[in-house]
Amino acid sequence: MRRLSVLCTALLLLLAGCSGEEPARRELTAMDTFMTLTVYGQSPAAAEALLEEAAGEIESLEGLLSVTDPGSEIYRANHCGGGAVSLSDPARELLENALALCEETGGALDVTVYPAVRAWGFTTGDYRVPEEAELSALTDRIDYTQISLDGGSLTLPDGMELDLGSVAKGWTGDRLMSLFREAGVASAIVELGGNVQALGEKPDGSPWRVAVQSPEGGYAGVLEIKDKAVVTSGGYQRYFERDGEAYIHIIDPATGHPAKTGLASVTIVADSGLRGDGLSTALFVMGRERAENFWRAHPDFDFILLCEDGTAVITEGLEDCFSLYGDWQDRPLEVVRKQSFHTQ
Ligand code: ADP
Ligand code: MG
Repeated sequence: MRRLSVLCTALLLLLAGCSGEEPARRELTAMDTFMTLTVYGQSPAAAEALLEEAAGEIESLEGLLSVTDPGSEIYRANHCGGGAVSLSDPARELLENALALCEETGGALDVTVYPAVRAWGFTTGDYRVPEEAELSALTDRIDYTQISLDGGSLTLPDGMELDLGSVAKGWTGDRLMSLFREAGVASAIVELGGNVQALGEKPDGSPWRVAVQSPEGGYAGVLEIKDKAVVTSGGYQRYFERDGEAYIHIIDPATGHPAKTGLASVTIVADSGLRGDGLSTALFVMGRERAENFWRAHPDFDFILLCEDGTAVITEGLEDCFSLYGDWQDRPLEVVRKQSFHTQ
């Protein structure tokens, strides 16, 4: 929704599994990514109507949140010269939640980082390495605390721009789960680009098996989950190279530079897609040590860090439901625990 094309393929792929029941499936492209929605246990007519409604919901959210569509609420807020714009309930709700995540992560997630994303060319694909002076001027305008949201009234200082791209797909996943649950569905799974979100378990009562992509291609591991969102942010998803240096699409709001913390990817397993999405971006910016400390202070989710040195790091909640796969099976797997600062 905030760029012309996405070069990456879906980050997480569902491993084929035998369900014993025919699902209803819809594939679509929205928010600049390929999406698959799969619902079990409905009559063909009911499933068709539900998937139609779900696709409509995705389109309407995209219409509210796009940074490039002049008709979107976010576009209007970004281009009204510092005046107040009134938001619809869904956009307000998303922004409130996103701002809370910016605060919780100490600004590692910052929904006003867009000018820096653009300066590096990630919005158009015309990549460039900005001068330091340009970046430091830009970072003055990256500060989510300057956003004022009063009820549905949003005011953004002139020159600042809002981009909810780091959380929009996660939140869309949450909305789809609610829609399916309200329709009486007990078993469904959606893949929204790199985000996978599941309602319930597979119809045969077994957990969903979700593959975590290796930064080098193929799979690095397999997760078994139910009723969870699995969201990955990876430096390898979108990047460009200049003079042997790789520049990725996740930006450290403090410096305006692409985050370079020794992590190749961060996967979050959370109850909420929105939280998973925001935290996957934020923990990538934080790097391993800060990410571990953040998790100890807020242990309502789990993570998998794939480090550039080939180490995988997981939180203790995933010990029984995650296993390394393929080339990664021979690499170190370290478990982070709440009790001790040291990993084992
Ligand atoms: P993707 O949406 O590409 O799967 P993410 O959820 O990690 O990946 O979001 C990255 C996108 O969010 C970037 O393309 C950029 O538009 C924006 N972004 C980059 N860095 C940040 C940040 N620190 N905080 C908020 N948004 C960011
Ligand atoms: Mg994200």
